[in-house]
Amino acid sequence: MSEKVLIIGSGPAGLTAAVYAARADLSPMMIEGMMAGGQLMLTTDVENYPGFPDGIMGPELMGQFRKQAERFGTRIISSDVTRVDFSERPFKVWVDEDLHEAESIVISTGASARWLNVPGEEKLRGYGVSACATCDGFFFRDKELMVVGGGDSAMEEATFLTKFASKVTIVHRRDEFRASKIMARRALENPKIEVMWNSTITEILGDTAVTGVKVEDTQTGEVTEHATDGVFMAIGHDPNTAIFQGALELDDEGYIITTNNTATSVDGVFAAGDVVDKVYRQAITAAGMGCEAALDAERWLAHEEG
Ligand code: NAP
Repeated sequence: MSEKVLIIGSGPAGLTAAVYAARADLSPMMIEGMMAGGQLMLTTDVENYPGFPDGIMGPELMGQFRKQAERFGTRIISSDVTRVDFSERPFKVWVDEDLHEAESIVISTGASARWLNVPGEEKLRGYGVSACATCDGFFFRDKELMVVGGGDSAMEEATFLTKFASKVTIVHRRDEFRASKIMARRALENPKIEVMWNSTITEILGDTAVTGVKVEDTQTGEVTEHATDGVFMAIGHDPNTAIFQGALELDDEGYIITTNNTATSVDGVFAAGDVVDKVYRQAITAAGMGCEAALDAERWLAHEEG
């Protein structure tokens, strides 16, 4: 039997789409992915999601989203989609050997952390190299750490890491932050945080654990070595669209191209959240787009059946 709406991905966009599709009696199926809940699962306090004046922990917020989606009858499969075929209807979506068919699809697979791709990084991932301060910060009590990047994530991660570390150095490739004023100020005013401006890490040093880094001055080209116990990446994200290559139109950076609200290049396939949006990338904007995608799918189905 073919599903009416199949949602791929379970961050704020996917789960909001599920709430709306379920309440429209479309009995959506969601394939939530192994990284269920999306990027908020890797965050601590969320202070800017409306409705929570005292803030809420990211995983708790996503738990509430999921509960709300399930309350109205969303069925959830806890696996990754491995292959899709959108060339004809019903659309086909595989989880390994299991085939699911659907009349319409909402894609909300989000984005994943970017890495520097420098020597030493891959080998030392999990041994002092991380892209998730909230997951790994705890292991660095009284240690010295570096955070790479100049955006809100870098400020947030650096500030969070001062709970554990004795010193946190933000390594940024330019001489000004991209981060919002309030988050940059919070980091700069923190006595445990220092900044290395105009600097890029060219190598991460250590055999079984991080011991230091090589840093290049982007203006002089001079390379110097610095001791550190860990390096946290906060240099942005890439959209999770590998399985949609060839099935949908993607832009140069791999984001799904949408026109006419959430419609993709394939009629009946909609996309929402960080997999589409490289500008706002907020939980609240993703949730808003998830709502739009569900309404678009609902109207499209009504039109097809009509
Ligand atoms: P971002 O804003 O894209 O910033 C990425 C940073 O990493 C930039 O400073 C960039 O440098 C640097 N960078 C990128 N590639 C690099 C490389 N290869 N080597 C060295 N540095 C590199 O990403 P983000 O900080 O993850 O934030 C993404 C979005 O989420 C933003 O819209 C942000 O506002 C939002 N966010 C909000 C909150 C919050 O409000 N609580 C928290 C986190 C994130 P350049 O500046 O030179 O380009």
